[in-house]
Amino acid sequence: MLLFLAVLAPLPLSAGDWSSLYDRSHLEAEKPRLRKALDYVLEHEIEPFLPEGQRVAFGLQQVDMPLPLALANPVSIYSKEGTIEFPLASMLFVEDLARAYSWLWTNRYSTKTVDEYLAMLRYRSASDFAGHRYPSPLVALHIPADALSDKKVVDLAVGTRRTAYAFLLLHEYAHIRLQSADAKTLKVEDSEERADEYALNTLENNSAPPTGLLPVMQSWLFLGAGNPAFEHAVTPRRLQAMAHYLDANVIEFVRGRPNALSSTDVIHSIALVLREEAELETVPGHIAALREFALRTDVESLKPRPLPRSTK
Ligand SMILES: [Zn+2]
Repeated sequence: MLLFLAVLAPLPLSAGDWSSLYDRSHLEAEKPRLRKALDYVLEHEIEPFLPEGQRVAFGLQQVDMPLPLALANPVSIYSKEGTIEFPLASMLFVEDLARAYSWLWTNRYSTKTVDEYLAMLRYRSASDFAGHRYPSPLVALHIPADALSDKKVVDLAVGTRRTAYAFLLLHEYAHIRLQSADAKTLKVEDSEERADEYALNTLENNSAPPTGLLPVMQSWLFLGAGNPAFEHAVTPRRLQAMAHYLDANVIEFVRGRPNALSSTDVIHSIALVLREEAELETVPGHIAALREFALRTDVESLKPRPLPRSTK
């Protein structure tokens, strides 16, 4: 039924308005908790790891959590007059994805369903879904209500959310620095890569493996598919650069950790996912195929799929 509706309905050609993902009242209720989470990341996950000369400047950086009426990118972060704006809906979307990934990883399910969900958000309109609203990640991906009763899932989800927030804040902070440092002539792709590198350079001294890179990069990749004007647009070269950075600096990322060996594996696995996405992006017709796939599929098909035994 949904399939027929999707074929007959006019398709959104550019990035959609995903504001139906979360109720305004829900976002307002979550604001104090998310503010605390954000402040924790600023104080404990970023500032101690910045080069000394930048710590004071970063400490003065204002970060607001606006409640936008229209959401043009579910993982949005931008700056306005020098203030970083991290919309509440984006913070919640990233947190939900972090929880979904962590539950899927811990229980050995494929995370391919996350990509498929993101492709559906990109190419389907809200009216294709129940109640004419886009389903939020935990609902669409059939994550059980008691997922957070498992401490392993919680620990992984918290680390994933923190490193995702830290990456986003550092990435946007780098954009502000680049703007003020006579680099306005930089091409978008170059400026995105430089912002990534700045963020990774700080994250590598941080206390958790940067699993948060996956929800962020996968979201930007799929939700911005075929739309070069998308905020923080992802290109194959950018994915390759990030994968290369992770592999080349793995020693920095795991230095001093009690579980350095498993952290090394995690970092190489993240690099591998990014590299595979980059290769897929260069396949001719990839975007058209992704769109076709998104139109054929529905929320029921996003039920967790066990990984084959031999695969990590
Ligand atoms: Zn960017």
